[in-house]
Amino acid sequence: MSIARLGIFGGTFDPPHIGHLLMAEVARETLMLDRVLFIPAAIPPHKAEIAITSGEERAEMVARAIAPYPAFSLSRCELARDGVSYTIDTLREVREQKEYGGARLYLLLGADMLAQFAAWKEAAAIARDATLLAAPREGFELTRLIARVREQIPNADIAPLPMPPLDVSATWLRSRIKEGRRVEWLLPASVLEYVGERGLYR
Ligand code: ATP
Repeated sequence: MSIARLGIFGGTFDPPHIGHLLMAEVARETLMLDRVLFIPAAIPPHKAEIAITSGEERAEMVARAIAPYPAFSLSRCELARDGVSYTIDTLREVREQKEYGGARLYLLLGADMLAQFAAWKEAAAIARDATLLAAPREGFELTRLIARVREQIPNADIAPLPMPPLDVSATWLRSRIKEGRRVEWLLPASVLEYVGERGLYR
């Protein structure tokens, strides 16, 4: 199948949770995306100082989280590249793949990431190549934020994702798991099983 409209969804996914899945699905249905690529970062630029779960384990959790959904795929390209994962390098790598060469690209971001976006490596080049899809997040006024990024990067194409703010973060989930609290409504059972098997976040 040739891909005309491709979603690019980078993140730490430590662990993947309901916020990630809802964003990806709302993006898919709203923009009629043929595929959404979930791309776990090797070393996220903005989290370089934080110890995170191994790339292989995060990739496995993403694989389990998206397994029921045929339009969602896992890409290990950032893990394979190693080092700090810059989105611009990922977009270039995606473009080199034959099936995605002609695709229109949509970059999925939470409002917290959009707030920093203008400072990303080659942000203007990213915005030239991809439409930015921003999900609301508690503490960020999305409309104002979008207007600011449009001022910082003229011609950037940015659309809000039509979903309610769902303020679940991986950080909060990790702390609940550590404390032995229930989280089964917040991430897929298959992921939670893996977390238990591997003793993650304890
Ligand atoms: P952490 O708490 O470890 O910082 P996180 O929950 O923010 O993690 P990431 O894997 O870092 O998750 O997020 C990947 C992308 O998904 C980012 O663009 C982030 O803004 C977005 N995102 C994650 N959770 C949500 C949410 N609940 N609502 C909107 N966007 C989200």
